[in-house]
Amino acid sequence: MSEKLTSQMAIEMEDKYGAHNYHPLPVVLSRGKGSFVWDVEGKRYFDFLSAYSAVNQGHCHPRIINAMVDQAKTLTLTSRAFYNDALGPYEKFITEFFGYDKVLPMNTGAEADETAIKLCRKWAYDIKGVEPNKAKIIVCEGNFHGRTTTIISMSTDPDARGGFGPYTPGFEIVPYNDLPALEKALEDTNVAGFLVEPIQGEAGVYVPGDGYIKKAFDLCKAKNVLFIADEVQTGIARTGKLLACDHEDVRPDIVILGKALSGGVFPVSAVLADDDIMMVIKPGQHGSTFGGNPIAAKVAIAALQVIKDENLAERAEEMGKIFREEMRNLKSDMVQLVRGKGLLNAIIIEPKNGKEAWDVCVKMADNGLLAKPTHQHIIRFAPPLVISEVELREALEIIKKSILSFE
Ligand code: PLP
Repeated sequence: MSEKLTSQMAIEMEDKYGAHNYHPLPVVLSRGKGSFVWDVEGKRYFDFLSAYSAVNQGHCHPRIINAMVDQAKTLTLTSRAFYNDALGPYEKFITEFFGYDKVLPMNTGAEADETAIKLCRKWAYDIKGVEPNKAKIIVCEGNFHGRTTTIISMSTDPDARGGFGPYTPGFEIVPYNDLPALEKALEDTNVAGFLVEPIQGEAGVYVPGDGYIKKAFDLCKAKNVLFIADEVQTGIARTGKLLACDHEDVRPDIVILGKALSGGVFPVSAVLADDDIMMVIKPGQHGSTFGGNPIAAKVAIAALQVIKDENLAERAEEMGKIFREEMRNLKSDMVQLVRGKGLLNAIIIEPKNGKEAWDVCVKMADNGLLAKPTHQHIIRFAPPLVISEVELREALEIIKKSILSFE
């Protein structure tokens, strides 16, 4: 194509040739580095979405990119029909990194959630002794675990579910952050697992009360029920700890990871568990052509090593405190509430003169910062964890100026 692609042209092409399953802000990005992205016209933006917390290590981190490129030149895919020389070392690395016996590698977050659901059900029949086809998994209102048919079957979001039935049975929904409701649901002896996000990201960065995760874990243990943490969005240092469950010293029976497991360069997801759970799945019972491919293996090792070497959990913790303090000090009646942990934060916007969260996001984009509303009145702020304090303070000025422009 000789004609230079403008933002307008790219938007029109997506509109004409792509399914309309997203509603993006009108910004067309063509380059990224660290905390920044640039549009096709060369305008620079702070990225405060980080591809829904996939780009924790910053855009195009050289160590991760080099790992990917080197492996891509050598061997890309073997399938699991054969062994490859990258998967074993990765499996050793990631299990030691998180302290579990085994890993099951997949690609997307939704696939890893599906994997955990199958693992939990199989464990219920083979180990716990639940009658065939009776296993139940408790999930929470407001959950987001992905977009597959089974996963939307446990969703309470009308957009995610509506019009896509019939639904997969076997789930019971309880309110989030409600221990008595969980305790009651756990009375059913067919319950095999409790699948929970330690902070509900897509729901609008809904942080449960202190002690909820620990007490929920204890309740599950008392009933021989697996505690399954979906850390696809909260994991890999985003909330100020390697896993969000670490804030309450909870070691889940099953951990689900995705997104930043690759630093956002490649779809890599994983399920971690100990042998007594993971070994219920036998050859032929689960898998994926691309799961555990050599590029993913090398990329994930590099991505996790960066988290550790650059102390990104500690940085998320420190920068998150600055973010919340500064935003809470902002005098604007449009800011109803600021909440979050580490660098996973949200503000609840009180509409003013017909202006809503979407308008604030458009204004911030004009001013050089990208964030996206989740639900109508909530804006999530989740920059790459490599953001420096100087950058963060500059970004905070943009956010404040944008909100105050509606006063
Ligand atoms: N689980 C959680 C908690 C998520 O936030 C997401 C995505 O936002 C997913 C699962 C699904 O991941 P993916 O979009 O890679 O399928």
